[in-house]
Amino acid sequence: MKIPARPKVIIRHCDAYDPDRIRAIVREGLDTLGLSPHGRTLVKPNCVASKPQFPHAFTRAEFLEGVLGALRDRAGDLEELAVGERCGITVPTRLAFEGADYYPMFKRARVKHYHFEEVPQVEIPLSHPGRLRDYLFTPEPVARADFFVNCPKFKAHPWTTVTFSLKNYIGIQDDRHRLIDHDHRLDEKIADLQYIVQPQLVAIDAIIAGEGRMLTPKPKRLNLVILGNSQVATDAVCCRILGLDPRSVDHIRMAHERGFGPVDLDAIDVLGDVTLDEARRRAEGFEVGLVRVEKYFEGTAISAYAGPPPEPERTDYCWGGCPGAIEEAIEILRQFDASCDAKLKRIHVVFGAYEGPIPAKPDERVVFIGDCARYEGEVGGKLIKIESLYRDRSTKDPHEAKHDDIFVKMASVTAKVAEASRTKSPIRLAGCPVSVAEQVLLLVAASDVKNPILDPENAWRFNKAYLAWRGSTAAQRLRGKPYQVHGPCSRGGAAPEVETPRADAEE
Ligand code: SF4
Repeated sequence: MKIPARPKVIIRHCDAYDPDRIRAIVREGLDTLGLSPHGRTLVKPNCVASKPQFPHAFTRAEFLEGVLGALRDRAGDLEELAVGERCGITVPTRLAFEGADYYPMFKRARVKHYHFEEVPQVEIPLSHPGRLRDYLFTPEPVARADFFVNCPKFKAHPWTTVTFSLKNYIGIQDDRHRLIDHDHRLDEKIADLQYIVQPQLVAIDAIIAGEGRMLTPKPKRLNLVILGNSQVATDAVCCRILGLDPRSVDHIRMAHERGFGPVDLDAIDVLGDVTLDEARRRAEGFEVGLVRVEKYFEGTAISAYAGPPPEPERTDYCWGGCPGAIEEAIEILRQFDASCDAKLKRIHVVFGAYEGPIPAKPDERVVFIGDCARYEGEVGGKLIKIESLYRDRSTKDPHEAKHDDIFVKMASVTAKVAEASRTKSPIRLAGCPVSVAEQVLLLVAASDVKNPILDPENAWRFNKAYLAWRGSTAAQRLRGKPYQVHGPCSRGGAAPEVETPRADAEE
């Protein structure tokens, strides 16, 4: 795993989603970086969610098409050119690819594609100090890629401040593995994922960037294509464009401290036809920032209370887990139901070891979300005691991780809400984390808000993609192909090694 001794980051002007123009820019970038795609070349976009509800959340098809064209133009001995991704959990990647208009583009670009939740997952051993666990699972196409291209969207993220190239690695795990450690130590998880593979090329879609949020960002036109040969350096330059210190973003700081690349501008060659100052000018006022759940829901029908997660000595708030998930859940519902906020009845949601008051009236719902939620006190005139269900992460074995089916979840959440209504008791949602999808289902079950999965306009597309996904994995099982391949994969897991600078590089 080689890290360039002096990484290059190229900032280019591009004011249109024109595949030909993007192709020319990326081709020139490959030349400047001295890169030639070869062997199995895999491109990983950010397609967490797509149209019609999430038009600014994903790497645009035209951008990918330009990148793929440039890779083909500069390819050496190419065995395969492919695109792979796992979109937001529980939703079929097929649905996200369709909404992003990727399928016709794959045909035009003559590339293969992988839905990462439908391919075997292989085990990558880890041995670096400070790791969260000794191995991770990743989709086979990622583990066997000879030339890896990370192609994220330039976006803000309310749990990790930003999502550029390092954070895009959350999509190189399927649901069951992605959810492990997706909690208050999410930034460490992202840093650990870096040991799986490092991209030779980073190409960031910053033509229309996304500010404020992750699934429903506000579009912000930056008219930029950002290329690099080190993802720490590239993310660091993106932070500088926003006026952020890259060390203030934990996963960038950790990856830097572990040797994945520099964050200081004097250790990076910043090139291109747009200066850093000009890029900064274009990004002026770009909204980023971590937003606590209590603040986020101020003025709505949701009252949120958050105590510290386990290991409070590390952080007093679970930035990567349940509280952030409910912020995304409401954003999803607002996209599907314009009257969402008006339809919500007062609901109190409680996270972590909360010790303050919960001023709920007797007829208002109270929900304790996440394994680590615990509480003792009076709620709605009754004394209640909620015990923590949290299990230390060392007791969770990725070999044993199970997939949570969305329809099974829907049935169980609906039953829990109905039971709580009958007994007039608080609702407890277990899990670490409780996913965005499950919190969507909670808010739907506890109100008259439209269920996105059953929404007539969406249901046909969702069910078609869901059945194709489940059919594909069932067919593989019938053919005797294991979904999860145990035993360490021979590739990945190595510590980063800084390349020896070439003599001519000093000129
Ligand atoms: S249960 Fe939720 S809030 Fe608690 S540590 Fe896990 S992810 Fe964080």
